[in-house]
Amino acid sequence: MQEFDYIIVGGGSAGCVLAERLTASGRHQVLLLEAGPSDRRFWVQVPIGYGILFHQKAVNWMYHSEPEAELDGRNIYHPRGKLLGGSSSINALVYHRGQAGDYDDWAAAGNDGWAYRDIAGMFDGIETAPADDSTAPFMQVNDTSADHHDLCQSFADICREAQVPCSDAPLREGNGVSAYLTTTRNGRRCSSAAAFLWPAMRRPNLTVVTSAHVSSIGFEGRRASTVRYRHRGMNHEARAHREILLAAGAVGSPQLLQLSGVGDASHLRGLGIEMVHDQPEVGRHLQDHFGVNYTFKANRRTLNDVFGNWVGRLTAGVQYMATRRGPLSLSVNQFGGLVKTRPGLARPDMQLYMNPLSYQSFYKGKRKLMRPDAFSGFIIGFNSCRPKSEGTVSITSANAADAPAIRPNYLQHEDDCAEALAMARFVESLQDTSTLSTILAEAPLTPLKKMDDDEVLDDFRARGGTVFHLCGTCRMGPDAGSAVVDPHLKVHGLEGIRVCDASVFPNITSANTNAPALMLANKAASLVLADAR
Ligand SMILES: Cc1cc2nc3c(=O)[nH]c(=O)nc-3n(C[C@H](O)[C@H](O)[C@H](O)COP(=O)(O)OP(=O)(O)OC[C@H]3O[C@@H](n4cnc5c(N)ncnc54)[C@H](O)[C@@H]3O)c2cc1C
Repeated sequence: MQEFDYIIVGGGSAGCVLAERLTASGRHQVLLLEAGPSDRRFWVQVPIGYGILFHQKAVNWMYHSEPEAELDGRNIYHPRGKLLGGSSSINALVYHRGQAGDYDDWAAAGNDGWAYRDIAGMFDGIETAPADDSTAPFMQVNDTSADHHDLCQSFADICREAQVPCSDAPLREGNGVSAYLTTTRNGRRCSSAAAFLWPAMRRPNLTVVTSAHVSSIGFEGRRASTVRYRHRGMNHEARAHREILLAAGAVGSPQLLQLSGVGDASHLRGLGIEMVHDQPEVGRHLQDHFGVNYTFKANRRTLNDVFGNWVGRLTAGVQYMATRRGPLSLSVNQFGGLVKTRPGLARPDMQLYMNPLSYQSFYKGKRKLMRPDAFSGFIIGFNSCRPKSEGTVSITSANAADAPAIRPNYLQHEDDCAEALAMARFVESLQDTSTLSTILAEAPLTPLKKMDDDEVLDDFRARGGTVFHLCGTCRMGPDAGSAVVDPHLKVHGLEGIRVCDASVFPNITSANTNAPALMLANKAASLVLADAR
């Protein structure tokens, strides 16, 4: 059996940061196990490639939720990255910290050390190299607005006309809209692997094994000591002298704990799993952002006219190859931010997306690819910042190869329906602006003004989808009765094991979840290293 100081399970957004931080001093031997392959693939490196990776089994877990009661029994498609970089290798590249209040809420729930004033430096440490070491790895958070589509200027004008705080400089946190920042570097995706893992892989004290699917954690009494995984058709086991760090994401981390006998005893015993620790909180409190897009026909060319035909794609391809710029080097989420749906709210309650492209997402059994609409279109989309509905992730068998059941329970909380309505009415107010009318070829395809509240909500239930921000399934809190890990990310009731990824968020953050996952891993590494000292 191979032996290490630390074993990291999952080489995703969080896992890559952990690997870099824990190996930097050279003092610790670290093993990182990732179920998927390397990220050195063309469509991973090309930013716009996420439209292709969205349904690519080789690099994507491609989960579906169980039928959702409030969505007419629809199964919602949940892509999740399965490769180095994890979901940061297949995501839409938007970088946003959320709001200070998100983290203050974490601290108010008893998580000392996680208020925004405490963790702001951890974000800074992700986004920039420290002043005394300019060669240290960091995540490139890039302002690509100079290359954004001309429509983004109209989007800003629409927001200004509607009295929405609008910034010329891209915002990375808080109230207001602007061009979105992206995780790109020199026209390429800057995933967590590209930013943190690749530089660390040159170090002799880091071992990375890809296509290594971890099936369970081995315990000696209450102490986590080994990791069992399958690699190239063979079973392997590795031992951690210090700690095992789960970074398998909001689906993978609770799944792995349950497979290892840490979860709800009544459920796990029924599957024939030997219990280590009865902890019903594992897999509960699943949260996600759930949103919808309204499509508009434009009276001018949009990105549909680039990606919707061979000539446009070829031209953009040549531009990209020659200059590493143009539409292929960007996200399609080019403009938006956090907005208050009505004056008087203490903080924004809605994330807005204004994309110079329109497309339909297709569900199980239907067309597989996301393709632009066959007209010049754009999108105004939204999701609630802090939805209250909670769901579960639970294994369905003792076999690690079987996907767990994912039940987000979207819109189960009545406040989420009220918020959906408020957000739709807010978009209706944008539809009323004179600036919007100057870029429309015809009346809005979803005529919100003519729809009563029931019709608006029916449409939301019928067409809404995930914004891919699953989190909360191993949540952090001081009390083992309501949380899986403590504020130091140690699993309550066990030793030698922490969870360090988006699954520990005590409540979902207001915006995109990659930046918070990176920050969390940065802080997790500092907690682990402090204990080692
Ligand atoms: C399609 C999509 C678009 C998104 N767009 C954005 C965006 O634009 N901006 C943003 O901020 N966020 C976005 N997100 C969300 C964001 O990327 C995630 O919240 C973030 O990456 C989560 O990080 P993580 O470390 O918790 O999990 P992940 O990055 O998902 O990493 C988990 C890793 O663990 C591995 N793993 C799981 N189980 C096992 C096992 N048993 N054995 C070994 N390895 C295992 C997985 O393969 C994966 O590599 C998007 C997500 C998706 C899927």
